Amino acid sequence: MDVGVIGAGIVGATAALALARRGHRVTLIDRSGGEESAAFGNAGAFAFADVIPLATPGIMRKAPLWLLDPDGPLSVPPGYLPRIAPWLLRFWRASWRDRYGAALAAQSALMAQSQAALDRLVRDEGLEHLLRREGQIQLYDSAASYRAALPGWEERRRAGVRFDLLQSAGAIAEIQPGLAARFTHAGFTPDWVNVTDPALWTREMALRAERHGATVLRAEARMIRPLEGGAVEVVTDAGTLRLARLVIAAGAWSRPLARAVGLGLPLETERGYNTTLPAGAFDLRTHVTFADHGFVVSKVGEGLRVGGGVELAGLARPPRMRRADTLLRKAATFLSGLRTEGGRQWMGFRPSMPDSLPVIGPAPGAPQVVLAFGHGHLGLTQSPGTAELIADLVEGRPPAIDLAPFRPTRFAGAHR
Ligand SMILES: Cc1cc2nc3c(=O)[nH]c(=O)nc-3n(C[C@H](O)[C@H](O)[C@H](O)COP(=O)(O)OP(=O)(O)OC[C@H]3O[C@@H](n4cnc5c(N)ncnc54)[C@H](O)[C@@H]3O)c2cc1C
Repeated sequence: MDVGVIGAGIVGATAALALARRGHRVTLIDRSGGEESAAFGNAGAFAFADVIPLATPGIMRKAPLWLLDPDGPLSVPPGYLPRIAPWLLRFWRASWRDRYGAALAAQSALMAQSQAALDRLVRDEGLEHLLRREGQIQLYDSAASYRAALPGWEERRRAGVRFDLLQSAGAIAEIQPGLAARFTHAGFTPDWVNVTDPALWTREMALRAERHGATVLRAEARMIRPLEGGAVEVVTDAGTLRLARLVIAAGAWSRPLARAVGLGLPLETERGYNTTLPAGAFDLRTHVTFADHGFVVSKVGEGLRVGGGVELAGLARPPRMRRADTLLRKAATFLSGLRTEGGRQWMGFRPSMPDSLPVIGPAPGAPQVVLAFGHGHLGLTQSPGTAELIADLVEGRPPAIDLAPFRPTRFAGAHR
């Protein structure tokens, strides 16, 4: 059948590949050719160990302290506070024990399904050469911070994540030498996988989709019109397409498209910053996460990418690259001998729902339109699983996991 996918970021491109592999005539529509995608500059991790939702009990006690620290992991420009307040309120509600437990279960199910889907994708498409299987080390600043994180490791264990807990600088150095002496406690997750380069991987998804017969259209989707009888029209700046099914996978920019099918969704963006350093910057052996600082260091291509953090500042404000400088400066104090010169800075827009779960499901009243966005910090990680789920929804098959926690109508006031 004729299926359109809006967005050739990581979710849309992987979905286009899954649909094309199942024999559908796919048109992958993107205004930037994917260049604008948050996946083009991200940290490149299939972070299957990250099952714990961001909206965690107690997080609202920590958040104000982070906000007060100009070098902290979270920032909100004061002018954006009124705009983000309703989202933050929902985020806070999502962090209550009952909802947190449900989100953790849903996230764990999507992670397990995505991990299995990645294995299928890599096997069927021959993609192993684009992966690094070097695990991840999560470092804590102190024994106290490690102890506070232990319940989270217990939850990971329950979710089936394999890990080793390390309690000495010596044990840590066996995995990653060259770290500052303050890091004496860590968790190591061996099944964590990185891509060699996330931009390359995302492009590869679109290229493979084309190889299976998909058409890539560089155009901006401006309006969606579900038609009587079950078809759908997409109005773009390059003409109008008539399709049997349509997938909205436009990442952080999906809100106006969802509104066109009657949904007012609390989609915001968590902006993240990083610096990509040239080859030889540091001898990195694994993906390194600084748990108390909200940033990571990973290998990308021949180089090294240092970054993360969260800035709640919407889609329109100019980037504040000094956040990337701050993270690089911190990294230089944590990784001895890190060469910080010659880097390239970047900012990307994570598409984020307040309950840390993506939206995956048909539009109410227009089941020919499937929504797939809001993956937050985990869009690459959950892209293989989401792609299979989308293909099932498009074909009207029962999806592999319960999609109720991901339904677009889970927020009050979603119907507009
Ligand atoms: C600093 C940083 C580090 C990250 N690290 C990781 C990581 O290690 N692992 C991980 O899993 N995730 C990571 N993420 C998150 C991940 O990058 C996102 O979750 C993911 O890119 C979202 O995928 P998406 O396809 O929904 O949106 P995107 O990848 O952002 O793609 C959206 C696409 O839609 C297109 N588009 C938008 N509107 C329209 C329109 N109207 N018409 C046509 N095209 C349109 C855009 O041009 C864009 O190409 C990171 C993000 C950041 C910012």
